[in-house]
Formats: sequence, structure tokens, C-alpha cells
Amino acid sequence: MKITQNSAVTLRMKVTDSQGLVYDDGKQPVAYLHGGYDNLFPKLEAALEGQEAGFQTTLQLATEDTFGERDEALVTTMPKADFPPGIKVGGQIQRLGPDGEPRYYFVTKIKGPTVLLDGNHPLCGKTLRFAITVVDVREASAEEIAHQHVHGEHGHHH
Ligand SMILES: [Zn+2]
Repeated sequence: MKITQNSAVTLRMKVTDSQGLVYDDGKQPVAYLHGGYDNLFPKLEAALEGQEAGFQTTLQLATEDTFGERDEALVTTMPKADFPPGIKVGGQIQRLGPDGEPRYYFVTKIKGPTVLLDGNHPLCGKTLRFAITVVDVREASAEEIAHQHVHGEHGHHH
């Protein structure tokens, strides 16, 4: 069947940047609910609309169509003494952002008594390439539509 509003779509999606650095090897299939539920970037959904299992495409998307530009106001520090034990570079911590809303910060460096944090998504400010293969297309259940995500092996687990 063709991908249309409320299709449950299973994909393999390899994500690289313009230098060829691999962020997701796409070996693990992912399932999403098609139709503007914010499960996939709109330009990717547009490319998949009307396609069927077996369809393959490669798209390059600019930062404004993916994770946006970096916001240097989200780069900050905190004293290592205030840090939960066991945290490492590459880990995440939740704290209040400049707008007073909680958000996740990545630990980018631990420098003596100071921990450097970055609240930007690691893929912010990058042009990304998506190599997509459609593995399966089926109609979503009423429950999946109500939840706005796909259930099952490659979908959302409750
Ligand atoms: Zn659900």
C-alpha cells in the first residue's frame, strides 16, 4: 500500500552529515506515524508521501529543515561539585534553560572543577543527508492515531 495520512511506516534511515560522518547507521528499523504528527521532519514526510515498501531515496536537508541553527546562549558551565556522580562527557543532564524552561544539556567537557554544557542538539547547525528505505507500510490502528505514534516492534513501547 501507499504511504498516506495515518500510515504506519517502517523505515531504515541512515543519517550522515555533509562530510560523511555517520550519526545513525540505519541498521535498526524505525516506525513512525505518517501525516504531520512531528514524528519525522516535514520534508522527509513529503518525499515519502505516496511511496510504497521498497522505495529508496536520499535527501539532503538544510539546518532550518532539521534541528535548526546552534544557539550559543545554550552553551554554559556548572561547578563539578554540583554535578550528580557518575556523569561523563557525552552524558545529559536536565536543568533550566535561559527561558526558565527545563531542557537537556549535553556534557561536552570536564575541565578541572568546571563542567561545560551545551543545550544544543548535537546535530544543530549541520546539513544532514538521509538515506531512506521504506521497509513496511500498513494502516495505523485507531489507538496509534489517538496516541500519534506507532506501536509494536519498531515503534513506541508503553
Ligand atoms: Zn501509544
